[in-house]
Amino acid sequence: MKEIKFKGKFVVKANIVLKTGLHIGTEESMEIGGIDNPVIKDATGKPFIPGSSLKGKLRSLMEYFHEKIEPEKMVYTVKGKNPIRIHMCDDVDCSVCNLFGRNHGSHEFITEEKTEFKNLIPTRLIVRDAFLDENSITEKMKENLTVNYTEVKPENTLDRITSAANPRSNERVPAGVAFNSEFIVNVYEGDGVKYLKELLTAFRLLEDDYLGGSGSRGYGKVKFENIVIEYRDKKFYEQESEAKILNVDLDNLNWEEIEKNIKIGD
Ligand SMILES: [Zn+2]
Repeated sequence: MKEIKFKGKFVVKANIVLKTGLHIGTEESMEIGGIDNPVIKDATGKPFIPGSSLKGKLRSLMEYFHEKIEPEKMVYTVKGKNPIRIHMCDDVDCSVCNLFGRNHGSHEFITEEKTEFKNLIPTRLIVRDAFLDENSITEKMKENLTVNYTEVKPENTLDRITSAANPRSNERVPAGVAFNSEFIVNVYEGDGVKYLKELLTAFRLLEDDYLGGSGSRGYGKVKFENIVIEYRDKKFYEQESEAKILNVDLDNLNWEEIEKNIKIGD
């Protein structure tokens, strides 16, 4: 097994700006006020984007991107009536599992073959919960909001035979709202900017996809703005050096420039 040598961390901060309404649901189907389908909120009652939702979405986009969605490459993470099948493997060169992580131990492929993951490879990516940027909610927006930070959309589905309606209320965070996100990419010897590149590729894919629910009905279009990348090497943590800070534009990434400015040193 290859030795794993820690080199440093990329800390990537960005505003996630909603271009259309966002709905990330919660387990509780009814909250006070009678919204059928509320959005998830933090302890202060403000909507937020859980790091796990963000990480799961980015992972799934990269699984497709790297062509990992085939039966021999997919395992059950939940079995039973509502199975969850994702890509996970023991390949030391798998860029998806190396960035987003893999669970050690026994797994079952969806082909029903059982397998044991033996390689100990640390997960590189940590995704923090993204909290609401209150300044992004303008006075004009406040006039149109149903509740403090969200809008409630009535939705109707008609039974095609009886024409009976099934009215439901859907809560969503309106377009224009921004969240402050933070991502950590651990850098090990030999990584260079490889996994940072993977993460920014996933951001670009997400901008042309959707976050949360009802994406095919227009919800969840997001844009990553004001991206700041910090590289913190070992010396930074010993307070012997400063972090290197770069502002990048997702639509104009210059990797030569980025690599020139961040010397990882291997
Ligand atoms: Zn993999």
